[in-house]
Amino acid sequence: MTAPTNRCWKLAARPSGAFKPTDFAWAEEPLAPLANGQVRIRQLYLSLDPTNRGWAGPTATYLPPVPLGGVMRGIGLGIVDASLHPDFRPGQLAQGLLGWQLYYQGDGSGVTAFDPLPGVPLDAYLAVFGHIGATAYFGLLEIGQPRAGETLVVSAAAGAVGSLVGQIGKIHGCHVVGLAGSDEKCAWLTRDLGFDAAVNYKTGRLRPELAAHCPRGVDICFENVGGDILDTVLSMINLRARVVLCGLIAQYNDELPPPGPRWFGNILLKRARVEGFIVLDYAKRFPEAFAALGRWMAEGRLRYRVDLVEGLDQAPTAVNRLFEGGNIGKLLVKVSEAP
Ligand code: NDP
Repeated sequence: MTAPTNRCWKLAARPSGAFKPTDFAWAEEPLAPLANGQVRIRQLYLSLDPTNRGWAGPTATYLPPVPLGGVMRGIGLGIVDASLHPDFRPGQLAQGLLGWQLYYQGDGSGVTAFDPLPGVPLDAYLAVFGHIGATAYFGLLEIGQPRAGETLVVSAAAGAVGSLVGQIGKIHGCHVVGLAGSDEKCAWLTRDLGFDAAVNYKTGRLRPELAAHCPRGVDICFENVGGDILDTVLSMINLRARVVLCGLIAQYNDELPPPGPRWFGNILLKRARVEGFIVLDYAKRFPEAFAALGRWMAEGRLRYRVDLVEGLDQAPTAVNRLFEGGNIGKLLVKVSEAP
């Protein structure tokens, strides 16, 4: 059988500020015949994530930088096309570091094959039963440690992680307030997802509106953004508050770190805990998260939404939607048709 032709985006330049189309180069290349110990996976959906920006930069984040000229790193869902690897069977689904390309071919490191979960649509693997769901689940429950009646504030609440965090907070009896960048997003959070309140932080009334919706202060801040948003929430934290430092998207396009939060002193006065985490540290426990998320979905208590972009060719421009607030829910690229 002849090997198919791959299509991929390679990293052509280190981005400065937001990604530019010229930071990537399109390539179409025939794949080598499969070697022993290798698997070939055809990608169905590519996940676009804020962390893509850090991976493309010159310095290591929690992973080494993508080498210039290498295929852009990305998380995806695919189907095993051919395998000479004992852990992968043709026809199986596989999820992990497939890259910005049609075909992944390699030794399978960073990729896991699995059998489909009954009744789960394909787009839900990247939106819920993958890194996104695990981030929301472990970040909130392990680090946020929510208790019924507490007030939880979630930033980037209408995004992939934030929309799940708020719903898990409601399931645990919290008073949940989301922050998002449009009235449409806020309406989705309160009407469809059951958030108690949502504040459009772009109206210039963040502080008074957030204070009005948090009359008993803030016990848990699930932080996805940083900057002024984090600062405003820190000014409202309660004694023994927990700040779950999940992401700081407001600064990912900056060359240098911004000044620290002005309300840092409140962490001392309120004996609060600020803890960062990287979801990969919980990889061994992902099945525990997926079981709970699946149960809540089946019970109708957890919803997800996908913002779908058609075609791998769109990835370099679509990724900037994450930084401009152009997505609602999980931003995915449809790379190829499911069989
Ligand atoms: P989202 O789907 O939430 O998309 C990003 C959203 O962030 C945008 O839609 C936008 O919404 C908001 N945003 C972007 N720039 C700004 C800004 N300057 N100020 C305020 N809001 C902004 O992405 P994810 O759910 O994938 O990721 C959310 C966060 O979680 C990110 O910080 C990411 O890095 C982090 N993360 C961390 C992980 C970990 O292991 N620690 C794992 C996965 C994600 P809006 O319209 O509301 O502005």
